[in-house]
Amino acid sequence: MELGQSSYPRRKTRQIMVGDVAVGGDAPVSVQSMTTTKTADVDGTLQQIYDLAMAGCDIVRCTCNETEAAEGLARIVPRSPVPIVADIHHQYRMALAALEAGVHCLRLNPGNIRRPEHIKLVAQEAKARGVPIRIGVNGGSLHPDLYKKYGGKVTPEAMVESAQMELAYFDEVGFEDVKISVKASSVPLMIEAYRQLADVVDHPLHLGVTEAGPLPGGLIKATAGISTLLAEGIGDTIRYSLTADPVEEARSGRALLEAMGLRERKNVDLIACPSCGRAEIDVIEVARQAQEAFGDREIPLQVAVMGCVVNGPGEARDADIGIAAGKNKGHLFVRGQNVAVVPEDEMVDALVEWATFIGEHGVDAALERAKSTGDAARRAAERDRAELLDEKGEDANRSEQRVEVIRKL
Ligand code: SF4
Repeated sequence: MELGQSSYPRRKTRQIMVGDVAVGGDAPVSVQSMTTTKTADVDGTLQQIYDLAMAGCDIVRCTCNETEAAEGLARIVPRSPVPIVADIHHQYRMALAALEAGVHCLRLNPGNIRRPEHIKLVAQEAKARGVPIRIGVNGGSLHPDLYKKYGGKVTPEAMVESAQMELAYFDEVGFEDVKISVKASSVPLMIEAYRQLADVVDHPLHLGVTEAGPLPGGLIKATAGISTLLAEGIGDTIRYSLTADPVEEARSGRALLEAMGLRERKNVDLIACPSCGRAEIDVIEVARQAQEAFGDREIPLQVAVMGCVVNGPGEARDADIGIAAGKNKGHLFVRGQNVAVVPEDEMVDALVEWATFIGEHGVDAALERAKSTGDAARRAAERDRAELLDEKGEDANRSEQRVEVIRKL
């Protein structure tokens, strides 16, 4: 299924602009992350912003928790390759300072900035500058009145009401340039809160499972929450909140959107067989080396690492380029057709070289390039395949032999 033909019709939302990135409406779902550096450390923060942008992040958030951070933002914003959101908790003055620094969006936590006159003042100032605000409700820092009203519990209804209360303050000053999040660390809670919110507002929604935690659990929780909602058409921008290098957040967000057909592929989609008794190489290690070699290079191809030439080229025939292990060598194939044979220790280099060629010139040019080597490569692959089948037979995992033994016990 091609991009744009996804089976997840998007909920209709109004569109806002965060710098030059459109959020909501028919804009592609965007990826966000947050820097972990002190915002006052301008060079360190910019380095991280560049790393995030390289990893596919569309919008970056930086904390603005003190005057030095706001000063840092004034220096960071003009040099950033992506729009910058200032994260504001507790001190409304930091929101005003961030606006002065030129940020492209504010994130306000309604549980932490509570006085209506402060909220309205910030909204008025944002309106005057044409800067949008994210109402960032967080299950862990709900307004105490709402907490009490809902029986001392964080409920989806309480989170939605918190967002609506903030919206009402914004309405009073005619400010509408808003996106909203209702994050919680509980996946069922955040899913229900977003569903309820989507029923009552048409603002773009920023999805996330807050404090999801370290890998792999954090990745699983965030993916469970975000992908469930995206599959229901809910969500205009996403953030993975992982206890990990933020670059992992950006990569994860990007990978999820690509996997769901919601964004065009930007980097290599590396597939690899799970390995089995037939494998002629350490598939996990070779796949790891390939992943490292490709890094964040912008080669939008599917690349396969397969453990054996017996089944590999067939099982990965849809991959743009792949390699399957033979007898101490690697068999390169393009869309299932053998194109070259390389020594085993050159497999990864050859894979990167061919992928780069296809990225620049296309699959047809690669098949043309292989015209002189393709026949020999095909024969070599057939020989290895026959030899491996001879050695290990059809039952490489010896399952049937074992079954026979078990039956005789
Ligand atoms: S049969 Fe070959 S390609 Fe398939 S899992 Fe086993 S080693 Fe990998």
